[in-house]
Amino acid sequence: MKFRRLRLTGFKSFVEPATLEIEEGLTGVVGPNGCGKSNLLEAMRWTMGESSPKSLRGGGMEDVIFAGTGRRASRDIAEVVLVLDNADRRAPAPFNDSAEIEVSRRIERGLGSLYRINGRDVRQKDVQLLFADAATGAHSPALVSQGRVGAIVNARPQDRRQLLEEAAGISGLHVRRREAEQR
Ligand code: ATP
Ligand code: MG
Repeated sequence: MKFRRLRLTGFKSFVEPATLEIEEGLTGVVGPNGCGKSNLLEAMRWTMGESSPKSLRGGGMEDVIFAGTGRRASRDIAEVVLVLDNADRRAPAPFNDSAEIEVSRRIERGLGSLYRINGRDVRQKDVQLLFADAATGAHSPALVSQGRVGAIVNARPQDRRQLLEEAAGISGLHVRRREAEQR
């Protein structure tokens, strides 16, 4: 599974619909301070099920919605679509039957978040599991944000273990076991 495309509408500074094609190999995003480079990465993490507003540099979840500027009115909806290449069909069932997987998250003021995979409504947990099995996701070691390296060095052993489990792609198994035990 690979990231193929990111589409944002009303997410943070991306008020107008914007698309980022993620080609094979290394992708670099360049631009002046404050132009929205970090917002792009946050859009990916948000769509993959990030549920902590603080780690998205906000006070509440609705802070990801375009808040308006002196010249532009605020929006009430933010939506991000993350398109994954699944040509190798390695995504977990039941999503492994299509060559591309479209994961979307949408938030509306006062109404909360809604997740979809390939157009079907799913739970946040389903999205998190999809990425956990692929050893990526909102908390995965594949995403290194500012200050993260220091945090890993100073982490408690059990937190570091969790990180290794995510890197190994087995954290989804723990979630499923916990779910099964609750039934
Ligand atoms: P740097 O090079 O300093 O790291 P950057 O390119 O990573 O900058 P970001 O941090 O992604 O920039 O973007 C910050 C910009 O996003 C700020 O101008 C901020 O006002 C804007 N922004 C953040 N949240 C919202 C929001 N909800 N509505 C409108 N604009 C927002
Ligand atoms: Mg930045």
